[in-house]
Amino acid sequence: MSTRLSAVSSENAPGTGDSGPEMAALVASGTVDVPDFPKPGILFKDLMPFFGDGPTFKKVVDGIVTHWGPDSFDVVAGVEARGFVLAAAIAYATGLGVVPVRKAGKLPRPAFSATYALEYGEATLEVHEGAFVPGQRVLVVDDVLATGGTAGATMDLVERAGGVVAGFTVLMELGFLDGRERLSPRKVHALLTV
Ligand code: AMP
Repeated sequence: MSTRLSAVSSENAPGTGDSGPEMAALVASGTVDVPDFPKPGILFKDLMPFFGDGPTFKKVVDGIVTHWGPDSFDVVAGVEARGFVLAAAIAYATGLGVVPVRKAGKLPRPAFSATYALEYGEATLEVHEGAFVPGQRVLVVDDVLATGGTAGATMDLVERAGGVVAGFTVLMELGFLDGRERLSPRKVHALLTV
């Protein structure tokens, strides 16, 4: 674990995760809890220190690739914006492509759109029509799984655009919000569950 990150986070003690305690500790070490952001009552999990630490980022991306194993997905979909960072790294590590799932109004060509409730507010996500080859297996990636609304909307978009969701990977799962149950029976891989 990097010394730089050890200094960043004390609140996120090593916990459980689907890739074991070492991976969980790496994610925890790069996370800072920010109270009352973006609105009162929300404890925001800021993963920017994790993304900023090269050795930690690489170990976790390699751990994600190992978790899924060879030939388990054909393309990676990342949710704007922090999901883009992780999705691109996984795509590069596996030699696959990446499809950005964007916030409303950003895509230049005809797109499917899904609106859903967030832990804090409401949001709309979009993906280009024809973004996936029909039947393409898609790994959906984001930084945090909270209520599962974002991941559920992304699943809907992927399927409307012709893909098949192979599973979800998130760095951190807020277990008390039951997002995983909402995505059942799809496979959910969380590096750290708090
Ligand atoms: P949800 O749709 O409720 O599962 O929320 C997940 C999405 O919102 C992800 O894109 C996260 O980046 C963001 N998010 C929700 N809650 C938090 C939180 N407590 N800390 C950081 N990001 C969050």
